[in-house]
Amino acid sequence: MSVPEQDWEQAVALLRAAEEVVLVCHVAPDGDALGSMLGLGTALRAAGTRVVASWGSEPFEVPANYEFLPALDLLVPAEDVPSAPGLLVTLDSGSVDRLGTLADRVDAAGQVLVVDHHASNTGYGTAQLVDPGAAATAVVVAELLDRLGLPLTQEVAAPLYTGLVTDTGSFKHASTSPQVHELAARLLATGIRHELINRAIWDTQPFGYVQLLGEACARARLEPGAARGLGLVWTEVGAADLHRHGLGLADVEGVIDVLRTAVEAEVALVVKCDPTDGLYRVSTRSKGAVDVGEVCTALGGGGHRFAAGYTSSADLRGTVEAVRDALDRAPHLAP
Ligand code: 5GP
Ligand code: MN
Repeated sequence: MSVPEQDWEQAVALLRAAEEVVLVCHVAPDGDALGSMLGLGTALRAAGTRVVASWGSEPFEVPANYEFLPALDLLVPAEDVPSAPGLLVTLDSGSVDRLGTLADRVDAAGQVLVVDHHASNTGYGTAQLVDPGAAATAVVVAELLDRLGLPLTQEVAAPLYTGLVTDTGSFKHASTSPQVHELAARLLATGIRHELINRAIWDTQPFGYVQLLGEACARARLEPGAARGLGLVWTEVGAADLHRHGLGLADVEGVIDVLRTAVEAEVALVVKCDPTDGLYRVSTRSKGAVDVGEVCTALGGGGHRFAAGYTSSADLRGTVEAVRDALDRAPHLAP
């Protein structure tokens, strides 16, 4: 499951040779997308490389919970990203379509290095550092920096810690290996204020979010017979809900973390309307008996075995029905 030695060598050679690097992460970036991108970007810039970083979706605004991240001045709006970069590095993006409006840079770039950890990675690009066994893309970036001989300063460690802590769900998910804790220890040893980082990520919300969370949970449905008897719990976050509470899509990422605690359901589903295009962004989680990554891949998206998503062009009813049907076909995994 780990990265072949020749892939590391190719990636190191590409980055050593580059005077300028364009970094792109997935649309609607989360902590690992932003953290792995800014961690790599900061380290490369400190070594003298010219770096710009971006993502291809609106709004081009760092989500409020991640505004504490250092080196945000690396970010440029998507339209200012060079049209044909010499070296493009994509982060946390398992497929070309996850790059949104910047997807065209993959064909236009001289070289494309893909740094990722999704099992559903499609194998695009001219060079890959893809480790489905890694708990976060930030883990792959940390090893890449070691191999480049670049130091873990606080400015590098804070974003990498952000990627690690978000993708492991605060070191709770099954992906939290001894190596994850060893990396966390190295990152903390730089002196980063992990308690402030964790408070910013997990424990800082506008009051409107607290209200929306209550509403979304209050109207959640429990379907014990779904997923062939393992159970499904689901809810919707509509465009009107977001508008009423003055929130964006990035603000409601945590709804599923509360919904999925319902013990009666193996699978949790949150259907969120994206106000920018009216399409439903679908988030799924499972407790370990169903591979929702397969389920979402079959529906046109992707992700990990127990955390995955896709974009649905159906209405709410059709979207829930499609997931229900796919869950009825999904095999149950051995404990
Ligand atoms: P979330 O539910 O937190 O948005 O996403 C959970 C996981 O599924 C993440 O690893 C994310 O990258 C992946 N994911 C979410 N939406 C999509 C999608 O539309 N396409 C693909 N390929 N992956 C997605
Ligand atoms: Mn990730």
